[in-house]
Amino acid sequence: METIYSYSLESLENLMLEMGEKKFRAKQIFMWLYRKRVTSFEEMTDIKVELQNKLKERFVIDPLTVREKQVSKDGTTKLLFELQDGSLIETVMMIYEFGKSVCVTSQVGCNMGCTFCASGLLKKKRDLSSGEMVAQIVYIQRMLDEVNERVANVVIMGTGEPFDNYDNVMEFLKTINDDLGIAIGARHLTVSTSGIVPRIIDFGKCGIQYNLAISLHAPNDELRNELMPINKAYPLKTLMAALREYSENSNRRITFEYILLKGKNDSPAHAEELAKLIRGMNAYVNLIPYNVVDEHGYKQVDRNGAMAFYNELMNRGIRATLRKEHGSDIDAACGQLRAKHARKE
Ligand code: SAH
Ligand code: SF4
Repeated sequence: METIYSYSLESLENLMLEMGEKKFRAKQIFMWLYRKRVTSFEEMTDIKVELQNKLKERFVIDPLTVREKQVSKDGTTKLLFELQDGSLIETVMMIYEFGKSVCVTSQVGCNMGCTFCASGLLKKKRDLSSGEMVAQIVYIQRMLDEVNERVANVVIMGTGEPFDNYDNVMEFLKTINDDLGIAIGARHLTVSTSGIVPRIIDFGKCGIQYNLAISLHAPNDELRNELMPINKAYPLKTLMAALREYSENSNRRITFEYILLKGKNDSPAHAEELAKLIRGMNAYVNLIPYNVVDEHGYKQVDRNGAMAFYNELMNRGIRATLRKEHGSDIDAACGQLRAKHARKE
């Protein structure tokens, strides 16, 4: 059964009208779902029982069942959820100085086939509905309610390519951004993409100040083709042109993600090429330590190597950050998410 979390406020208002109800019921329901975070329709005490029953016949509230919870030494928490069709997905909560950040899964598996990524090892089984993404946030928010904290930040960097599931991702963002929803500011919501050009353009025109991160990982087509097959469909020239258009339309700063892979993309020459590629753009580079995926054979660059690459970029006037690893002891870092557990009957 569909989850009611899939409805943004606007869609829920339309649904109420279709069901012969008053539009304002949508706001009431939204408050119950996202302010009170109820788990059943019966708890919606200002909604008449007749409407509660109609909703119950059509929708569930929570589509996720938690199967496993792992907490790492640094507090990173990984949750394994089972969806209603038995698919397994993972959601991670990381702790930063600015607060709790949630890494959301957008698809069951991923079809992009990046040669370094664990998520891509499982071919895409299906897209997640918007509600299945909203539910990941609500679940963690309920967990944080107990210690009186809020989800501060959301990144769509779990399994899946969000721009291969664009409409649902946009509906998801709308709901968690909505003042009557989870009310997380747009500037605290980030979509990460491997570079699906038409959707980058659409995203730049959406009119909301979300963040965009691009998984770049290579400064030239030859290497990027090898690491990320999507580059054959949208090579760097096309990607960069789209990002310039995105910048003009959105006025937002772009984040380039660059995983350092030992002996592959980490030489000073690569840093120089990268600096040339993005010079003049309103952007910065986030250097990511590689989480080794046994099946792939790539190696991590050590801290000194990473610092050297960072310095090369800074010397060329490119702003960069060196990301810390989170939850590596429980395989909870980005790109490590995979439901490796067999389904438990
Ligand atoms: N499909 C989207 C979002 C999910 S991947 C994308 O590719 O952007 C989120 C980030 O984790 C991407 O930057 C991805 O390249 C990175 N990543 C994938 N595998 C990784 C690994 N083993 N170690 C570190 N980062 C990884
Ligand atoms: Fe998919 Fe992103 Fe992994 Fe590539 S890096 S396989 S796009 S999840």
